[in-house]
Amino acid sequence: MPWVPHGISNGKLTTPWPKRADDYFDTFPSAVEVVAPDKATDNAREAAGACPTNAIRVDAEGVSLDRGRCILCRRCLSIAPGSFAMAAGSAVGELSRNALVAGRLYEDDETLRALRRRLMERVRRLRRSVHIRHVDTGSDGSDEWEVQALLNPVYDIHRLGIFFTASPRHADILLVTGVGTDGMREPLARTREAMPDPVIVVAVGADAASGGIVGGGYTNGLGVGALLDVDVWVPGAPATPFSILHGILLALDRVPAHMQEERR
Ligand code: SF4
Repeated sequence: MPWVPHGISNGKLTTPWPKRADDYFDTFPSAVEVVAPDKATDNAREAAGACPTNAIRVDAEGVSLDRGRCILCRRCLSIAPGSFAMAAGSAVGELSRNALVAGRLYEDDETLRALRRRLMERVRRLRRSVHIRHVDTGSDGSDEWEVQALLNPVYDIHRLGIFFTASPRHADILLVTGVGTDGMREPLARTREAMPDPVIVVAVGADAASGGIVGGGYTNGLGVGALLDVDVWVPGAPATPFSILHGILLALDRVPAHMQEERR
């Protein structure tokens, strides 16, 4: 059994997060940030024009970037490095779609606190055994790979008492990826209806937030916000496993307190 000494020599690979800090969680660039939101420079305008998903807005109020649209192509970083940069860290999930917009305040802290309070009341009954039903509403498969990674030994989501289930009747969280195509409208609604209350909805990836780069078209998919109420939005294209894990724990009010207070 050569895998025994191999395993022992590898040591423990599973992340300690959220119990303890994890370098990868804290440093991996999972989103783009606006470093000079009040400077509507020519470079920022050029980057807005080059952005393939129209995620950047430059006007008299300054510069903003919608992470729900951003597909992380990094084009804006090379055109306007003084305006945009990769943000370090995986804590990118938000409790409202508007809060995904970086560089401009579309959602104030009081509104977010109220959203969190309401969510806490709903998830109070969900203790340490939480089941997730995942529905792909039309994606390129990349977000699904990252969702699957939550089951590997590095992230090992089971250690947190969180499991995936094939049956919506056993599920507490509805995790949705994909653009929300017309064809998936009814299956998604039926899955939601089959789940026992309280149902928590987590939308994962730029596709689910806005339709991403393939939004619209013959599928009519412009994100899942129009199809059901979403509690947590996780940006990324694809969203990283740590970002997804953060979003799930944010929905369950299990993100460490100091991280909940940190805002862009
Ligand atoms: S990184 Fe995001 S915001 Fe920047 S150009 Fe690409 S899609 Fe647009």
